[in-house]
Amino acid sequence: RLRNIPAFTYQSGLDEQYLRKLNITQRLQRVTETGGLELHYQPQSCLSTRKIVGVEALLRWNDPELGPVFPDEFIPLAEETGTISSLTQWVLNQALNDIKALALDYRLAMVSINLSANDLLDATMIQKLLAAQLSIAGSATQLEFEITETALVQDADTAVHHLHQMESAGIGLAMDDFGTGYSSLSQLKRLPVSKLKIDKSFVLSLVDDADDQSIVKATIAMAKALSLKVIAEGVENQVSAQLLQQWGCDVMQGYYLAKPMPLNRLIQWLKEYNESHFPQETVGN
Ligand code: C2E
Ligand code: MG
Ligand code: MG
Ligand code: MG
Repeated sequence: RLRNIPAFTYQSGLDEQYLRKLNITQRLQRVTETGGLELHYQPQSCLSTRKIVGVEALLRWNDPELGPVFPDEFIPLAEETGTISSLTQWVLNQALNDIKALALDYRLAMVSINLSANDLLDATMIQKLLAAQLSIAGSATQLEFEITETALVQDADTAVHHLHQMESAGIGLAMDDFGTGYSSLSQLKRLPVSKLKIDKSFVLSLVDDADDQSIVKATIAMAKALSLKVIAEGVENQVSAQLLQQWGCDVMQGYYLAKPMPLNRLIQWLKEYNESHFPQETVGN
């Protein structure tokens, strides 16, 4: 993040880093017109039934000059410079289009979209999200939004008000990256979220890290006590999946199940997955 970079120290490589950030920031400003954005989807499965319960939409950017830039690099810059709302708008429109294809033939229950703190605090953006929800009312595929605690730290009253508006409209809400920020039990209790996503940093090395095991186990127990659904991200192997299931985690997301992929590959993947796991129920296309 820009603010973590020391202002002017004469270290080698700093100019290069600074110029890259500047370049990314400038190119982001026009990216929704110049193209290069793509929405990928990563499946989530129920740990007990193995059914696919939804997909998370993840933004990809392949710039003609910079090449592929990953969200961990460009999202924070977009947040800092205000271009995030045009990106969120782009993601929302793309997801709504893709939902038409998914709802029709694949009966995917849910597409989940990441919201930045800026989005959650922006009344105009909330109106757009509510309109999006209305536009897919009755569709087999529903929208869900993933939020982080950042907005709550900045302006809890506004964030909570907007979350209640969304909940009243029937929008599903998930707390993302749980455990990494300032998330607290008391805060979680007053939020209308129905799902908690355990951050991948606790899940990636679950198999050999005893501390991570304790944290994840306790988080699942706490979520259950608050009647929240729990989803673990960053599940990379079968042993992790088994541990999570044993501890009562509901849903998994991670490379063990599938990596994020573009819509056409997702459609193929869903077809093959359902045919091999649920041959009786598979409807032909
Ligand atoms: P996130 O919302 O926590 O998304 C999960 C990230 O974990 C994704 O990274 C996903 O590709 C990665 N992941 C999933 N399973 C595994 C696994 O098994 N192993 C490993 N090593 N990684 C896994 P990605 O796509 O690079 O996105 C990074 C972050 O950028 C996201 O974290 C989210 O905070 C942000 N982001 C991505 N797309 C959007 C977007 O459309 N809007 C906003 N506001 N933020 C976005
Ligand atoms: Mg997310
Ligand atoms: Mg997450
Ligand atoms: Mg995360």
